[in-house]
Amino acid sequence: SAPRPLRGALIGCGFFAHNHLHAWAQLRETHAVEIVALCDRDADRLATAASAFDIPATFADAAELLRSVRPDFVDIATTAPSHRALVELAAAHGVAVICQKPFAPTPADARAMVAACAQAGVPLMVHENFRWQTPLRAVREVLASGVIGTPVWARLSFRSAFDVYRAQPYLAEGERFILEDLGIHILDVARDLMGEVTRLSASTQRVNPRIRGEDVATVLLRHASGATSVVDCSYAAPREAELFPQTLVEIEASGGSLRLDAGYRLTVHQRRLGTGLADGRTEVRDVSPPLHAWAERPWHNIQDSVLNIQAHWLDCLRTGREPATSGRDNLHTLALVEAAYASAADDQCAVTPQV
Ligand code: NAD
Repeated sequence: SAPRPLRGALIGCGFFAHNHLHAWAQLRETHAVEIVALCDRDADRLATAASAFDIPATFADAAELLRSVRPDFVDIATTAPSHRALVELAAAHGVAVICQKPFAPTPADARAMVAACAQAGVPLMVHENFRWQTPLRAVREVLASGVIGTPVWARLSFRSAFDVYRAQPYLAEGERFILEDLGIHILDVARDLMGEVTRLSASTQRVNPRIRGEDVATVLLRHASGATSVVDCSYAAPREAELFPQTLVEIEASGGSLRLDAGYRLTVHQRRLGTGLADGRTEVRDVSPPLHAWAERPWHNIQDSVLNIQAHWLDCLRTGREPATSGRDNLHTLALVEAAYASAADDQCAVTPQV
């Protein structure tokens, strides 16, 4: 028999929350989930989302929502300053939590939020969706299959001049920008593909004079495995072809290499054993993300990853498994962001990430 639908409530009906709501609506059939209530302090945004998704139960106050609706989980899609209070509120009500990235403004807040959910015994997932992008899942599968052997070197690159400030004006205002907002995703993917990081150094620049924070970051990572990675990101990279929001990947390994190139083209090269020559087998595949009915280019890659991570959350809630990007897991990604800022401030000294 079909399982009882899980009842979710969304807190924060801003720009990105509409992707969450579209994905929840699509998962309704396949994963038995229903968004039963919405919350936002902004009445216009609340009304717009309520009518677009036909969700009549609306609240200006999250505490009131939790008291009267008693959902199975809350999906927090507000910006970082509000996350701690909202996560702790959900934990106090014994309600499972998804929280958007950046999970918390400080590592101390993040640790307190993880502890609050652990103490309340409620599942906690950070909506760290980049590693759920279909092309990056394909890269992960190649590594897991072992066909190119053990990774020794990687480059993960996100370079764009897309005007992100239009839909997200707050990005121009913070003292921190690209590492905290975008680099955080690429560093998470680096962990997912190459393992934990023991040391890193970073260099940051601000190119766009109209923003407060850094819009270029270059990070050199040493992994526990001994592998090295370079994570480089920019929102000040005018290129002949705008690649937003693609992450390009190159990985060299003991038995071959792979490249995720522009246009979601994945090349996997296996070295011919015993010859030492680069004349092995090469396969090229299109690993483009699907374009869901509600999605629009060029965002469709990210929109598909939202669907994938939310499906994973529902699977985890039903089976009691810990989500891949649990709060506990995300502490390691946040530690990389903090270490990168510390290194950049100290002009490229190497820093050991502290969880
Ligand atoms: P936004 O400012 O457009 O929306 C946030 C909404 O939350 C606003 O409508 C605001 O009124 C509401 N809000 C804030 N505090 C609240 C509270 N205590 N109670 C109720 N409502 C409250 O922001 P956005 O651009 O949608 O970004 C939201 C989050 O999503 C950010 O943390 C951002 O980093 C993240 N984001 C993630 C991705 C991704 O790919 N994972 C992409 C874009 C944005």
